[in-house]
Formats: sequence, C-alpha cells, structure tokens
Amino acid sequence: MSWALTPLTEEQREIQRVAREFAEREIAPHSAQWDRDQYFEPALVRQLGDLGFLGMMIPEVYDGLGLDTLTYLVALEEIATVDASVAVMLSVHNSLPTQMILKWGSDKQKECFLKPMARGELLGAFALSEPEAGSDAAALRTQAVRDGNDWILNGTKAWVSSGTKGEVILAMARTDTPDDRRGARGISAFIVTPDLPGFSVGKKEDKMGLRASPTVQLHFSDMRVPGDRLLGQIGSGFIYAMQSLDNGRLGIAAQAVGIAEAALRAAAAYAAERKQFGKPIKEFQAIQFRLADMATRVASSRALLHAAATAKDRGERITQFSSMAKLQASEAAMWVTTQAIQIFGGYGYVTDYPVERLFRDAKVTELYEGTSEIQRIVIAREMYSHT
Ligand SMILES: Cc1cc2nc3c(=O)[nH]c(=O)nc-3n(C[C@H](O)[C@H](O)[C@H](O)COP(=O)(O)OP(=O)(O)OC[C@H]3O[C@@H](n4cnc5c(N)ncnc54)[C@H](O)[C@@H]3O)c2cc1C
Repeated sequence: MSWALTPLTEEQREIQRVAREFAEREIAPHSAQWDRDQYFEPALVRQLGDLGFLGMMIPEVYDGLGLDTLTYLVALEEIATVDASVAVMLSVHNSLPTQMILKWGSDKQKECFLKPMARGELLGAFALSEPEAGSDAAALRTQAVRDGNDWILNGTKAWVSSGTKGEVILAMARTDTPDDRRGARGISAFIVTPDLPGFSVGKKEDKMGLRASPTVQLHFSDMRVPGDRLLGQIGSGFIYAMQSLDNGRLGIAAQAVGIAEAALRAAAAYAAERKQFGKPIKEFQAIQFRLADMATRVASSRALLHAAATAKDRGERITQFSSMAKLQASEAAMWVTTQAIQIFGGYGYVTDYPVERLFRDAKVTELYEGTSEIQRIVIAREMYSHT
C-alpha cells in the first residue's frame, strides 16, 4: 500500500528496502514488549550507525552517507511504520543536533562530535523546552554566565527525547544578563555532554505513547562548559534552533506518515479476515469507505511531505511547507489510527493487536516540535512574511 507519489530513484528504493528489512527483522519482534517495559534498546544505536542511518544527511567527508532529505525521510517512514519510538530517536539525531553542528559548528566540533555521531558512536539530543517554556520557547530561563574561557550553566531542560542516552546534547541557554534582556537574541546554543561537572539526568516521563523513547528532564547545576562548546555565534542559538526545526518537523511528519501507514495496513488486513453477519467486514461499504478515506489521508500526507522535502533539497526556504507537512501528517495519523481502532472493534482497544499502540504513539506528533496550534501560527505568519 506504501506507494511513493514522488518517483523514487534506484538508490532511494534500495535504502527504503534496507530500512524496511532492518525494521522488520530487528525491531518488529520486540516493539510491543519495549513499549510495555518503556525500554530503549541501546544496541540499536550501533546497529543503525553501522547502516549509516545516524549520518544520513551528513556529508561523506564527516563519515555520513551524504544523502538528500527525501531519501532520509523515506527510510525514516519505514522505521516509523514498525516503531515510532525508534523513529523519533532517528529523527531528532538526524534533523537537529547533527544538522546544527554541520551548519554552525567549528572544524574542531565537527571532528570531535559530528564524525562519531555520523558513525553511530554518539547519539544526539536537543534541549530547547523547559518546564515553563514550551510553545513560547524563547521564554527559556536556563542561564549561561561566562567564567574565564568557560561558561557556567544553571537551569532545567524538559522533555528531552533520548536524554538518558543522549551523549551530545544541543542545549539552548540565555547568554544575556538580567539587566540587558534581549529576548530570542539573548539565547545561545551549547554542546553539552553528560561528563560535564554539574550535569544530571532528572525525572523520566511516564508517557501515554512513544514509551520506548526515554524522555527526561536534564538539570544543569553550576555546570562548567568549556568555551569551545559554544555553537556558532553568541545570541544566535534560538535562530539556529528554529531553523533546525524546519528540518525536524519533516522528520516528525515522516514519523506520523509511518504510524498512519501501519494503522491502515493493519486495519485493511483485519477487515479482510474478520467475519460478521457471515462475511468479511471488508464487504460492508461503511468499512470500505473508512479504509478509502484512511488511504487518501495517508497518501496526501506523504505527497505533501515529499514535496516539502524536494523543495528543501532544491535549496528553497521551507518554513511554511514543513509546518504544513507536519500539521497535515500528524492530524492524519491521529485520525487514521482512530479509524483503525473502529475497524478492529473491541479488539482494537486491547494490547493483543498493534492499533492501540499506534493510536497512543500518533498523539505526540500533534504535540512536539510545535503543537498543531503553533504550526497553524507559523503557516499563517508565513503567508504575510513576503508581502
Ligand atoms: C514525548 C515528548 C518528547 C519531546 N521531546 C522534546 C525534545 O527532544 N526537545 C525539546 O526541546 N522539547 C521536546 N518536547 C517538548 C515539546 O516540544 C513541547 O511539549 C511542545 O512544544 C509544547 O509545549 P508545552 O508542552 O509546554 O505546551 P504549552 O506551550 O504549555 O501549550 C499548551 C497548549 O496551549 C496551546 N498554545 C500555546 N501557545 C499558544 C498560542 N500562542 N496560540 C494558540 N495556542 C497556544 C498549545 O498549542 C497547547 O495546546 C517533547 C514533548 C513530548 C511530549
């Protein structure tokens, strides 16, 4: 059912096949258990690294595969079709910290961090949100103060995906002072590693879905960060984070398309096999129409995503396009997984079948990397930004 509306090249189809086979062989047999146990399998990082999947868009000179965005998203969708928790780890790593270091990092930062990240030896995380700063991320409070060549950071970052495993965390902190607050321009980006004195992992969230992806708070308590861990320019960290989220939102859209595709396949298969009133339920027009609407929303979400990805690969500005792709795909994933449960009837409501997990996993795609409300704000704002 997973046809691509953008014609894929031979290479793209090959990478899609590798991702699908890996996901079916190494991840699918364990997904339900990992979800139940809230277990993140560390061996996956090295395995995905060996396949090059942790350096998909990193140039070969930095040990990555140097692929385009569309190829990366096609592979990510395949992983998400099997396990959304593994997909978010891949999405965050490939879209946010690695791209930030690639774009704004120094040669030394690329050597020390980007190369091992591309090889899958170090996993990346992204720490923008705070307990009091979610949608209004520029209101973050974590403070960085200069001390000689170093910076001393104090504050708490919230909701950090892969935070317990994140060995390279791109953390945004204020570098302006209380007497000279500069809003979004007062925020800088730092490369933080768990070995820094004053770093600690706090509360692990007990989540509705995406349970195999650890989401944690991080505490920085007089954390001493060497001066060469500042990324790019002082005061540009928020801009870097926002620009990177244009890429990140494509990854979340691919995750949502994968979840929806999995729900569609499961529902279509179940409708062919489940009999009521003496015939398979797929014979009822109510079920057929539901499946037709589900397939249409999956296909249109994928089409918009692939169009946004190819626009990015042509070097176009995609802020509006990526918000549209994320909004469309995440709301489609929530709707499609809800319909899948309806097709399964009571069996959709229990853990014997995968659709209840897909439904729980779909919800977060409407929340993170900007809620649906924030995507609508971005889309509407962009309509007027060039007039
Ligand atoms: C599982 C998970 C993983 C995450 N991973 C990461 C991560 O790795 N790194 C990271 O930095 N963050 C991460 N986040 C945080 C995520 O990005 C935030 O949860 C999200 O941005 C929303 O912020 P909030 O939860 O504080 O909600 P709030 O900002 O408090 O929003 C509450 C409600 O108000 C609405 N709202 C807010 N402002 C407006 C407005 N101006 N107009 C209309 N409606 C508005 C929102 O849409 C929402 O419905 C993660 C979150 C989750 C749940």
